[in-house]
Amino acid sequence: MPSARRIAQKVLKTSPGRSAAKSRRAAGTPHSGKGRSSLQKSAGSRWGMRVDRTDKAAAVSGKSAGRHGTSTKEQESMAAATHGKPAGRHGTTARERTGKTAAMHEKSAGRHGTTTKGRAEKVAAVRGKPARRFRKVTAGKPVKAASKPFVETPEERRKRAAVIREILGKEFPEARTALLHHSPFQLLVATILSAQCTDERVNMVTPVLFGRYQTPSEFASADQTELESIIRSTGFFRMKAKNIIGCSKGLVERFGGEVPSRMEDLVTLPGVGRKTANVVLGQAFGIASGVVVDTHVHRLARRMGFSREKTPEKIEADLMDAFPQSSWIEISSSIILHGRRTCPARKPKCDVCVVAAYCPKL
Ligand code: SF4
Repeated sequence: MPSARRIAQKVLKTSPGRSAAKSRRAAGTPHSGKGRSSLQKSAGSRWGMRVDRTDKAAAVSGKSAGRHGTSTKEQESMAAATHGKPAGRHGTTARERTGKTAAMHEKSAGRHGTTTKGRAEKVAAVRGKPARRFRKVTAGKPVKAASKPFVETPEERRKRAAVIREILGKEFPEARTALLHHSPFQLLVATILSAQCTDERVNMVTPVLFGRYQTPSEFASADQTELESIIRSTGFFRMKAKNIIGCSKGLVERFGGEVPSRMEDLVTLPGVGRKTANVVLGQAFGIASGVVVDTHVHRLARRMGFSREKTPEKIEADLMDAFPQSSWIEISSSIILHGRRTCPARKPKCDVCVVAAYCPKL
């Protein structure tokens, strides 16, 4: 068996670097550092030969040594040339590489190619919206173009109201409530049911309801669950059933089962406010106690410039000032019908409106 030392000597003798070293020593040529194998380098370090850092690292890792005297940078450049790729951090700058990569992928070049703002703006242009991060911040609601305020004196308003009343009177000569009824009590119950509901829906329910209960005393002793089931389709049926029963009890207990004809009395009944009382007094008793302010009158009073108020009570007060008392019953119904037909909440038909010439369209 050959000893380990003999094997090592044999290897050294047969290695290409060995004969080259011998020739160099013989010729007196200094060592160039090239052409050494890793074994030689590691052996060389042991034998006191100078080994640069790259060689040492190679010797430690057991891989080819920063090879043949080229620096890491040079190797990378060579590899890049071979593979046709960018040469790593020593060949091109990060910016150049990013740009090249971007060009390859036909995308924007990241932080070196375009700015974040530039990219955001491009994306925004594609989406058709301004870039969110760079959108101008405008607090609150969109700014409307300042319009000239509508100003008129109370006298001018009354004159304008008289013209509008005349026009709407001709437009709706038979203006009256659409709620079907045969007595003040039935109108009172139907008006309670009409809250947050159309007159058409109420008119579908009341024949059944008044077929089941006729008098205030029958309503007062009604089973709430059964009443609810009959009026369910009008919405808010629990509250309405409770109010109808409570109102009927109040009529029986305090007014002898009759509907009172005074505003002060009516508004003491459960579920009866000024609007319901005005409907009953105007339509059932012909008493002009005020102007009915329902959702249509509320909207049109403001659009027509008769009131700038927001509560029904204040709007009613403005209308009572603009229109004479003799027209309060009629004007309520006319405005309600005009609102339904021509001036709905969405898209008022001003181009075909009969009072367009006298309406500021606010
Ligand atoms: S002019 Fe227009 S806003 Fe005025 S009442 Fe007629 S539809 Fe309504």
